[in-house]
Amino acid sequence: MTAPRPRPEVMAIAAYVGGEHKLPGVNRVIKLSSNEGPFGPPPSALEAAVKAAAEMHRYPDGGSVELRRAIGTRYGLDPARIVCGTGSDELIGHLCHIYGGPGTDIIMSMHGFTMYQIAGTYAGSRVLKAPEHNLTTSVDEILAAVTPETTIVFVANPNNPTGSLLPQSEMERLRAGLRADILLVLDSAYAEYVEADDYDAGAKLVDAGDNTIMLRTFSKIFGLGGMRVGWGYGPPAVIDAINRVRGVFNVNLGAQAAAVAALAEPGWVEHSKAHNTKWRAKLSAAMEKAGIKAYPTEGNFILSDFGTAEVAKAADAFLKTRGVIVRAMGAYDLPQCLRVTVGTEEECLLVADALSTFMATRHG
Ligand SMILES: *Cc1c(COP(=O)(O)O)cnc(C)c1O
Repeated sequence: MTAPRPRPEVMAIAAYVGGEHKLPGVNRVIKLSSNEGPFGPPPSALEAAVKAAAEMHRYPDGGSVELRRAIGTRYGLDPARIVCGTGSDELIGHLCHIYGGPGTDIIMSMHGFTMYQIAGTYAGSRVLKAPEHNLTTSVDEILAAVTPETTIVFVANPNNPTGSLLPQSEMERLRAGLRADILLVLDSAYAEYVEADDYDAGAKLVDAGDNTIMLRTFSKIFGLGGMRVGWGYGPPAVIDAINRVRGVFNVNLGAQAAAVAALAEPGWVEHSKAHNTKWRAKLSAAMEKAGIKAYPTEGNFILSDFGTAEVAKAADAFLKTRGVIVRAMGAYDLPQCLRVTVGTEEECLLVADALSTFMATRHG
């Protein structure tokens, strides 16, 4: 009766379930469930983190100054308009609390990244999901979903878990159709993997106004998911607001050192992107050949559609017998699908073979 009671919003949240990483009785697990890069950490990042560990009795630089400078140099952005976070997840949370809250609406697309829903609900906002067409974000549906109470629109581009991409022209149409007081959050966690021509990771729209922020991460192509580093590039007023509320020492010592080194690792992004482009296509083709629908993707993962939840579940179980962990999609309202991260060449071949065997034995 007298026990502490969380706010009702908190109890309305279904806790985020991350990709599994262990299988009982299996020694060598192939983890393709969290869209991590397949090549481990960049060697220089590992070295930098180990070196930084000798200083772990010191607080890190609370302003991530060197890291922001390195990001600015790499992407041609003003470091004063960059803020780093404990993964971009931290920044998603702050944005919801800063611009959302009770009485406000936050809009995301139907199969958008679940962190928006979790963070928005926690902040006290109502989270509205705009329908998608063909598992692709629809600008028209988002614009139609806008209410007078709307304060934030989240769009992941490419989107996770669907892999779909909106061209820059559509992103511009979206921004132009939103009221000026609505913050547009462009989550470009997979920007480095995009091959499409008409694409901008977000800086153009950020620079064009004072109401758009771009979020990026070191967790995917840079191979630093375990270090928790993300960043945002936005209007000075938005960056200023985040800096007032973020964890003072949010990016730890080893993470800052690793991220700076990862940015300087020669050829890392180029090699990772080329590998991804090649094996994303090969794995998608293998799925289609086996009779599984593979949705078009610009990320480092493929949404594969097995037709029914029952078949997807059986495929998931079969993959596990081969030591392969992929991501079930029930939490995204896509129980008939599995999301498969593009792994190493060996891992992709193994998954392709397993899926082909599964489909062949299934249909005799
Ligand atoms: C992986 C991912 C992130 C990044 O998360 P971090 O907190 O930086 O690890 C953000 N948005 C999307 C859509 C993602 O898939």
